Amino acid sequence: MTQFTVFGNPIAHSLSPQIHQQFAAQFNLQLDYTRSLTSKQGFAAAVAGFFRRGGAGANVTVPFKEKAAGLVTHLTARAAKAGAVNTLIPLGYGQLAGDTTDGEGLLRDLQRQLAEAALARTVIIIGAGGAARGVIEPLQQAGAEVVITNRSAARVAPLLERFSGLQALDYSALAQAPRAGLATDAILINATSASLTAEGLPVHPDWFAGSVLTYDMMYGREPSAFLQQAQRTGAGKTADGLGMLVEQAALAFALWHEGKVPDTDHVVSVLRASLSR
Ligand code: NDP
Repeated sequence: MTQFTVFGNPIAHSLSPQIHQQFAAQFNLQLDYTRSLTSKQGFAAAVAGFFRRGGAGANVTVPFKEKAAGLVTHLTARAAKAGAVNTLIPLGYGQLAGDTTDGEGLLRDLQRQLAEAALARTVIIIGAGGAARGVIEPLQQAGAEVVITNRSAARVAPLLERFSGLQALDYSALAQAPRAGLATDAILINATSASLTAEGLPVHPDWFAGSVLTYDMMYGREPSAFLQQAQRTGAGKTADGLGMLVEQAALAFALWHEGKVPDTDHVVSVLRASLSR
């Protein structure tokens, strides 16, 4: 049976195995998809070992997406631009390709969440890790003005060099009411891993109130602490990252399975129902 895995730490919460099994069932394929808990020091060896044993493909999640971009022998243009990889594809003879499907996955889910398809608005991204890197350029190409802010300012500077047109926002500004216009009709995205430890973020309620959509890339049974902060303001729409997760997985599935494109709406509904049980 073909072997797939997702590398991350933590990884127990990952729904990727269920998602890929459901996609496989749509095409009558048999596959094995596991979770690989990996240490920082052991990541490169774990990836190499998996593909030496004949692994057919792997995903990479928090906190290894940037590291993964340095491991592969070939990067797709979008992964090279992002400096982050979430999908590994073996090319044979020890060669490994890295791609990122996070950006396209997010765009598809934002289009699902917002009644209108146009993303020509301000998108404020909190976080500057692998997930944030993967979504900046696709959002810009979709017409968004992207503004980034991160707890550690040092991680923002290289992104400003990498992505032209990207604007930076001081992290401490989030704790105050936004300056006029900045959060009007904006999309506010939590691309930090704070929600993995049930932490909220120091964000003034007016940032939520001024946003048409507050989005947390994390997903779970309950709304994250960040989404609860937004919901307490009673304004705007909120969404977690389940739809993005399924969309980025579908794009990875197509890369591994000769372009086969799974139906995602059904899988999102099934997972949503299973999370709320
Ligand atoms: P990384 O480890 O690469 O980056 C983590 C980011 O979170 C950094 O910007 C870090 O800031 C910030 N951060 C962590 N803890 C806190 C905190 N307590 N307060 C403020 N900022 C914090 O992770 P990824 O970018 O790979 O993943 C980020 C999140 O996105 C994860 O929860 C992941 O599960 C989710 N994700 C979901 C996807 C989906 O399909 N739904 C796809 C990709 C990611 P600093 O630099 O200051 O440390």
